[in-house]
Amino acid sequence: MQWSNPIPAPLDWRYENLESKLIVGQDERRVLLERSLASENKHDKYIFENQQLLKRNNDLESALQELAREYQGLQIQTNKHINRRWLEDSDVFACMKCNQQFSVTVRKHHCRNCGNIFCDQCSSKNTPLAASKKPVRVCDQCYKELTS
Ligand SMILES: [Zn+2]
Ligand SMILES: [Zn+2]
Repeated sequence: MQWSNPIPAPLDWRYENLESKLIVGQDERRVLLERSLASENKHDKYIFENQQLLKRNNDLESALQELAREYQGLQIQTNKHINRRWLEDSDVFACMKCNQQFSVTVRKHHCRNCGNIFCDQCSSKNTPLAASKKPVRVCDQCYKELTS
């Protein structure tokens, strides 16, 4: 009886060939896995950044809304202030200090501080106010109080 080679040369060669293909395949798989992990990390990073941006956007939006509310409140207060303090031109017929009657030549002037109405002589001075750095017309009484 003649013993044949248990693994014939071609089979052996095929086995080696398969083995090297397997190694190459494993390498490729590892590279792909690394790549997919990397892209997953990147993906997570993008999601995180997106969330941060979204959060910041929300923060800004609520800050903006708060500002708008504050602004509205201030505006209401300012309007109240103006309505309370500014006399209507039509209600006043004479200077509130010297009592001179207003006419075409004697014009009405609002004191920007107390809001009362005076003739030109009784409100001839200008001074800066808390609400305005630029000097504005004030009555003599207010001028005295503001500059003393
Ligand atoms: Zn006057
Ligand atoms: Zn005044």
